[in-house]
Amino acid sequence: MESSTRLLIQDKYFVPYLSEQQMRQRVQELGKQIATDYADKKPLLLCILNGSFIFAADLVRSMDTVCQVSFLKYSSYIKDKSSNQAKDLLGIQGLNENLKDRHLIVVEDIVDTGTTMDKLLKELDSHKPASIEIATCLFKPSALKFNISPKYVAFSIPNHFVIGYGLDYDNYGRHLSGIYICDEDE
Ligand code: 5GP
Repeated sequence: MESSTRLLIQDKYFVPYLSEQQMRQRVQELGKQIATDYADKKPLLLCILNGSFIFAADLVRSMDTVCQVSFLKYSSYIKDKSSNQAKDLLGIQGLNENLKDRHLIVVEDIVDTGTTMDKLLKELDSHKPASIEIATCLFKPSALKFNISPKYVAFSIPNHFVIGYGLDYDNYGRHLSGIYICDEDE
């Protein structure tokens, strides 16, 4: 059972921002939309670890369509700050699937500066897929530094540090069912 008040995670306080119910409802809508858009296209969902694990699990279960799911791992955040570099921890070369002529959907927890996504999209593009789109749980448009426009966004949020629903602070807080925002950022 989660507290509805302030949570202390390591050295920072967080307060509720998006509830479990809001997440569930919106992610289901998004899954249905993607399923409609990709009917008969057999998309390959490339989910970015660690942060997207809950979003990806909920999204694919609300997609009533034939699809494949695989995982990549990148890291760009150190505690609550972007390092402005996307470190490739488990890259495309480790995938079993051939990306050529596939309809790819990159599944992200959050697009912030866009550093991770810019690097990944360029790499994916070199494999000549049929199409690439981004499905992200959260999007911070005001933090974006690259020319990236995610097609599927559950929620656009202001440029504040958030945790929960897979997102972490110092690897804590991923288990929270809703999104929490850093109190000091408000
Ligand atoms: P970008 O490369 O777009 O700057 O950042 C992408 C990654 O940074 C995300 O996949 C996520 O892991 C991390 N990140 C960006 N903003 C936040 C945030 O507000 N909270 C958390 N927990 N991680 C974030």
